[in-house]
Amino acid sequence: TPRVFSGIQPSGGLTLGNYLGALKRFSEMQNEGRDCIYCMVDLHAITVWQDPDKLRHNTRELTAGFIASGVDPEKSILFNQSAVPEHAQLAWIFNTVARMGWMQRMTQWKDKAGKNAEKASLGLFAYPALMAADILVYHATHVPVGEDQKQHIELTRDVAAKFNHDYGVDFFPMTEPVIEGAATRVMSLRDGSKKMSKSDPSDASRINLTDDADTIAKKIRKAKTDPDALPSEAKGLEDRPEARNLVNIYAAFTNQTVDQVLAEVGGKQFAEFKPMLADLAVAKLSPISTEMARLLDDTAEIDRILARGAEQAREITVPILKKTYEIVGLVGA
Ligand code: ATP
Ligand code: MG
Repeated sequence: TPRVFSGIQPSGGLTLGNYLGALKRFSEMQNEGRDCIYCMVDLHAITVWQDPDKLRHNTRELTAGFIASGVDPEKSILFNQSAVPEHAQLAWIFNTVARMGWMQRMTQWKDKAGKNAEKASLGLFAYPALMAADILVYHATHVPVGEDQKQHIELTRDVAAKFNHDYGVDFFPMTEPVIEGAATRVMSLRDGSKKMSKSDPSDASRINLTDDADTIAKKIRKAKTDPDALPSEAKGLEDRPEARNLVNIYAAFTNQTVDQVLAEVGGKQFAEFKPMLADLAVAKLSPISTEMARLLDDTAEIDRILARGAEQAREITVPILKKTYEIVGLVGA
């Protein structure tokens, strides 16, 4: 049976990229009546050092962000990764299945470890094995993600296939990435060749879901662009990454294709288009940030939601981990 799983790291505040590439899709998939499991992946976040108090705050704020974006804890399972120990337990098994060479080829590893890979944590290197465990410990079949996570989903399939092959079973399913919409890779507002990220040191590079209306308008006004007017068709954006990024964002917010947006705004200068985009972004994001702030007033309630979600999650993970241990030959499973 189809089952949806996805996660977001509490490694900072949520960005417009997280919203359009992930959260917006999460609530849509839930509302299509699918079986959805969504996770604050705190164990992933600590692969890069996190201040403990900030990590706690970010986990609760992220939970508020999910709910404010339309993920309903009555319909979807919503919890934090560390509260469901089977994720880490299955990840260890997958550390023995995945190969060093697979990990070395991951672009996220290369980007985040940078030139000084010797100093990166072992956890950062093994990140994709934990991600495979997050997904497969539910036998999830569909994973809504941004474009940047496509390679990790392919690795998840490789892990499932190698496990099934090595142990002669047909146990873990082949997972499909769900990468849909006009904004599956929102770019930095300062550099059209870089993904917008919550951990980017430059706050001007991103729109945070908690930014107020003036900040959003200012960041869009200052976003890097080129001097030309907008084209009337998508192919006119091919060599214009910054322009394409802003049009993609507009299209994703309005659930249109890029060509539909350009039919409306083609020929306009950025001086005219940027305020339109800013008004749209503020109209779409301000109800979310208001709701996040309201939810964050009651952290005890957020913690109760997470604890209940973890219990629901374990009803699925405990039997799957037990079966995995039996397959591997671990006594006492
Ligand atoms: P970090 O910088 O700490 O890695 P992040 O902003 O990349 O943070 P993640 O928690 O790594 O966020 O990713 C959560 C989800 O958001 C993933 O599905 C990822 O593909 C998606 N996502 C992240 N950045 C973007 C982006 N710029 N455009 C579209 N989707 C994105
Ligand atoms: Mg990321």
